[in-house]
Amino acid sequence: MKADVYDLVIKNGLIVNADVSFYADVAIKDGKIVALGSFFRAAQEIDAKGLYLLPGGIDIHTHLEMPFMSTFSSDNFESGSKAAAMGGTTTVVDYAMQEKGDSLSAALKKWHEKAANKCHIDYGFHLGLTDIDENILTELESLTQEGVSTVKLFMAYNNALRCPDIKLLEVFNALKKLQILSMLHCENGDIIEYLSKKLVNDGNTAPIYHSVAHTAECEAESINRAAIYSKIFDLPIYIVHLSSKEGLQVIYDHFKRGVRIFTETCPQYLILDDSLYNKEFLEASKYVMSPPLRGKDSIEALWKALACGMINVVATDHCPFFLKQKELGKDDFTKIPNGAPGIETRLVLIFSEGVRKGRITKEQFVKCCCLNPAKLAGLYPSKGAVAPNFDADLVLFDPNKKWQIMKSHLHENVDYTPYEGIQVTGAVVDVLLRGQWLVREGSFVGGKITGNYLRRTKVI
Ligand SMILES: [Zn+2]
Repeated sequence: MKADVYDLVIKNGLIVNADVSFYADVAIKDGKIVALGSFFRAAQEIDAKGLYLLPGGIDIHTHLEMPFMSTFSSDNFESGSKAAAMGGTTTVVDYAMQEKGDSLSAALKKWHEKAANKCHIDYGFHLGLTDIDENILTELESLTQEGVSTVKLFMAYNNALRCPDIKLLEVFNALKKLQILSMLHCENGDIIEYLSKKLVNDGNTAPIYHSVAHTAECEAESINRAAIYSKIFDLPIYIVHLSSKEGLQVIYDHFKRGVRIFTETCPQYLILDDSLYNKEFLEASKYVMSPPLRGKDSIEALWKALACGMINVVATDHCPFFLKQKELGKDDFTKIPNGAPGIETRLVLIFSEGVRKGRITKEQFVKCCCLNPAKLAGLYPSKGAVAPNFDADLVLFDPNKKWQIMKSHLHENVDYTPYEGIQVTGAVVDVLLRGQWLVREGSFVGGKITGNYLRRTKVI
């Protein structure tokens, strides 16, 4: 082939896919990977010797510019997508949240306005259903035409986001016909409401009581109920942000009975433990999220489940709040905005804590951070692998670089990282979105690049 047939050739990198790793050069044309092999020539050629070539990271659980608990998550699509790109993530699927009284199309429109021409990486939306009536059930059918193949349902947050069980059943009935996948926040809202009130009334208002109110049993019970509903309708479900070994056990029990459950966890549940709640208010409030951090035994159980494929996806649940926002709950833990940043640190943390520590292989790392999220969000086969006909979303990754995570190095629009001071091995060097450079030698160069809205296909 003539030298100018390709736009770009990346040479000498180790391609790491979810099934196998191998050395090959990657030829890119018009934003797509067109061939893997050797002896390609192009006007632009770069040498990736010593680096891994990973598919762009896909984060299918984020909350950018989300109104929540009388404030907003602090990253918008501009800042959040830049931080994501710096961390090797080239696609995000964010939760478009229905506000009380909104139609689904109104909710989607709001999210399109937040993201259009601002997001530096490709993006899609799940729809968070929070106010369900007959009209909404009818409107669900229009979602797939809008490229939305997944909805979120909350079993927690009483009097706010929660979907009562009777409505959950009605929605499941509709989803079954439409083949839309439900993503479930599994915590028992009544237990949380009861325990929270009791704790606050007894004067137990510090952040640690957030984790007392959100017991692991809340998660396990709620997963059990969701799995039983799933079985009744023979409808697969996706459990978001699994945090506990108790929840994991319930999923395992239902697996054995043939219930189809997909499971996601997040870096915070694989790395941080609940001893962090013993710190003083501002420090402890950084880790107030739902579900909360758990004990070290849950951490090891989640890694094992990831290694054996029981957990499919690692996403971030990126939902940052400045410490000033966390202070809303200084006298009452129930008023601390729930959430923490993480969109920029996912790949490096899972690589360093997972692959480098021998808990998972580098291929499993790509599977849970790239391939499975692409499949479960309806983005496969254009995203999730380094292979011909896939988008040229690529991460050049240095598997040996050692560094220390510090907020001062990160780009998330918030004043802390939950991972401050953690020593990691592995670093993102270059990031390409459909063949265009977002990050080059560790610096963001994608200021003029805007991502595409991704119309996602059905996944069940
Ligand atoms: Zn979330």
